[in-house]
Amino acid sequence: MTARPTRKGIATVSLSGVLPEKLEAAAAAGFDGVELFDNDLIASPWAPREVASRCADLGLRVDLFQPIRDVEGVPPDRFDDVLHRFRAKLAVMAELGADTVLCCSNVAVDAVDDPDLSADQLRRLGDLAAASGVTIAFEALAWGRHVHRVGQAWDVVRRADHPAVTLAVDTFHVLSRGDDGSALADVPGDRIGFLQVADAPLLDMGLLEWSRHHRCFPGEGTLDVADVVRATLRAGYDGPVSLEVFSDLVREADPRRTARDAMRSLLFLEDSLAAEGPPAPARVDAAFLEVPGGPGVPALLGSLGFSVAGRHRTKPVTWWRQGSADVVVNDGSPDPALGIVTSPVPAVASRAKRLLWPEVDRTRGAGEAHLPGITSPSGLHVFVSAPAGEEDHWQRDFAPVAPGPAADSAWTGLDHVALAVPAERLNEQVSFLRTLLGLVPGGTEEFMEPHGRLRSRAFRPGAGDLRVVLNVEDVGAGRTPPSGVTQVAFATSDVRSAVVALRSAGVPLMAVPDNYYADLDARFGLAPDLLADLRCHGLLYDRVGGGELLHAFTMPLAPGFHVEVLERRGGYDGYGSAGTHVRLAVQRR
Ligand code: MG
Repeated sequence: MTARPTRKGIATVSLSGVLPEKLEAAAAAGFDGVELFDNDLIASPWAPREVASRCADLGLRVDLFQPIRDVEGVPPDRFDDVLHRFRAKLAVMAELGADTVLCCSNVAVDAVDDPDLSADQLRRLGDLAAASGVTIAFEALAWGRHVHRVGQAWDVVRRADHPAVTLAVDTFHVLSRGDDGSALADVPGDRIGFLQVADAPLLDMGLLEWSRHHRCFPGEGTLDVADVVRATLRAGYDGPVSLEVFSDLVREADPRRTARDAMRSLLFLEDSLAAEGPPAPARVDAAFLEVPGGPGVPALLGSLGFSVAGRHRTKPVTWWRQGSADVVVNDGSPDPALGIVTSPVPAVASRAKRLLWPEVDRTRGAGEAHLPGITSPSGLHVFVSAPAGEEDHWQRDFAPVAPGPAADSAWTGLDHVALAVPAERLNEQVSFLRTLLGLVPGGTEEFMEPHGRLRSRAFRPGAGDLRVVLNVEDVGAGRTPPSGVTQVAFATSDVRSAVVALRSAGVPLMAVPDNYYADLDARFGLAPDLLADLRCHGLLYDRVGGGELLHAFTMPLAPGFHVEVLERRGGYDGYGSAGTHVRLAVQRR
């Protein structure tokens, strides 16, 4: 990287609460400064001087005062009103001790499309600003009437040719318009007055709506924020890197928690720019699912075809196995956990520490594998094991049990785990999977269910077989959405035999409505014997290109999840989402 960002800031609009709470949360999370949102000040009983002194007490600098709107491209006969407004805000800024002001491009219907007029008006504001020791940072709002791309804003700033008139870079506005860091190629760093960073999930909606309600912290969305930040720093910008995130979620969240997520996102951004700190793992494989013990758990696992493979040498933990699928039952923990295999293990642990992800507090016996555990925001613990054959491989902690599980099972392992998270925890959980484990999110899918809606997104590593699906269920008032592990999918090379065995062991399998098979036939025109076979075994089916998925579900089981057994053929890579609405309806009955 070029220079490392030195100062970290956050906009007060990115935190919920009233101004004192926002400032305290920003300071507690270790931020150096804030962007003071004018509305937060206007609604505060504190005079600007009191805000300044409170910030000083907390060790915060007011890096930016924002925003002043519709200041350029104004019909000339109305520009005096702008001057009046601007002078009044400069007086406020003097009391705040703020020396940079964000001015955004005009959104008014009657804005004038004339870059020279815009430049001239910014130059006149620049004279006023300079007299107060203030710098203007001019931002192209993505929905600006005429100036809506960063290149246009730079053009106006260049024409204004005034030392107190600079460019503001906001990663959301740049990226949401389809630009990237290359749009800043000709901009000298000392002409960039401020850098605001925000990410967002890719959504097909109006830019204003997208920006106001769905921005998120870097690492939680899908925009290439690092590219724009890298270009800005490479240009020589050395001011604050400041988070400006608006969303419905942060409006409702605890500001202290949001501030910590925000700080983590900047650390992640720094690491991805500098290639410093321990990198995200290159390969991640699924190892085991750990479930809390309970009276019915051994019988349930037995009926699913699992047998005890080993007992932990020092803890009340049992390892169950069917084929190559592993489940660990922990009588000493109330929480589910996911075991993953990656290398080197200590790098993941130190990365978790650097990114402020909390460690699982679990003692380690002498001679046991070093399995660092990290608690994810949803409460699911993740244990990190070294690959098989290495000293810190999880299976070495278990004393094998004779005769051990039968060797003839076709189950090949844990295919995926679906985790239900509350809507307000989703971004944080996404951040966990992305920033810590380097998993890549797929697109968001939405399903109707009988009493609500399910939003689903699958995550996978660049290399390795781990698959995690995050679900958010929106249910009606008075109903509690599920949370935690809701689905455990095991892969097999023979799903027919699997369902036959499950059925004969008395496992409650999901009955598939006959209408489903009529629809399958309509969609795929399947060979009659295949269709009859699917129907006979109660299997669901999907096909994409040359790949096929045959799968079946149990009804929800006592531990709170249902089990899926699936057979992927011909490189099928999805999750059978065309049948998800059927599963949701049948399982809710
Ligand atoms: Mg902005």
